[in-house]
Amino acid sequence: MSNSGFTFRRVREDMIENLLDLGIKDFRVLDAMSQIPRHIFLDETFWSRAYENRSWTIGYKQTISQPYIVAKMTELLISHTNSRGKIFEKVLEIGSGCGYQSAVLSFFAEKVDAIERIKPLVQKSRDNMNKLKINNVIFKYGDGYQDWDNSIKYDGILCAASPREYPKDLVSILKKDAKLVLPVGGASQKLNVIKKCENDEVEESFYDDVSFVPMLAGKSDDGNDA
Ligand code: SAH
Repeated sequence: MSNSGFTFRRVREDMIENLLDLGIKDFRVLDAMSQIPRHIFLDETFWSRAYENRSWTIGYKQTISQPYIVAKMTELLISHTNSRGKIFEKVLEIGSGCGYQSAVLSFFAEKVDAIERIKPLVQKSRDNMNKLKINNVIFKYGDGYQDWDNSIKYDGILCAASPREYPKDLVSILKKDAKLVLPVGGASQKLNVIKKCENDEVEESFYDDVSFVPMLAGKSDDGNDA
């Protein structure tokens, strides 16, 4: 794949080197990210810089997450497992935006349920999955605070928008030993991992300082309320 003489494969390899330098160690995550063309998730104007470790606008006042953050959250979600391939049956993603993180998750679960509150982004992420021929992600237009199916238990939940406190209800749809990975906070946020233990208690741990868009309640036809 090339564009104006530069090869995306080469810059994607540079992105992986950069992720290693930044401390991402799980080869399963690095392997998945080395196979996903990040540029196709962006407007063509950003293609030449699509593999830099930064976020870019995806419209509707939202951004695609930095590659490091996508890698780190995925690494935290799967860190208690050590086999390769589709280690999980079902994963829930909240705030799927343009679908880049969803594409990464599609490598690790038989099925990914993704919820996004801005309607046009739901279509955008579906289009992106079609381009990549990824067919195990189901996108739903809804509010990640409540619009999930109570009867399903997930092997992991990854949320890419920051609530003030983690939504306790999400723990009830986690399997035992599974984790909820998400940013928590307002002006100052940290990556949190909420693990559901055998006795149904939770264990919380805290990681990088991050800067995500807020997790907003309700759905939006156009993102104007974001
Ligand atoms: N990982 C995404 C980044 C998306 S940014 C990507 O790779 O593109 C966070 C997304 O969370 C935004 O699209 C925003 O609309 C969405 N969001 C915020 N609050 C939400 C909620 N309550 N339910 C579902 N999605 C939400």
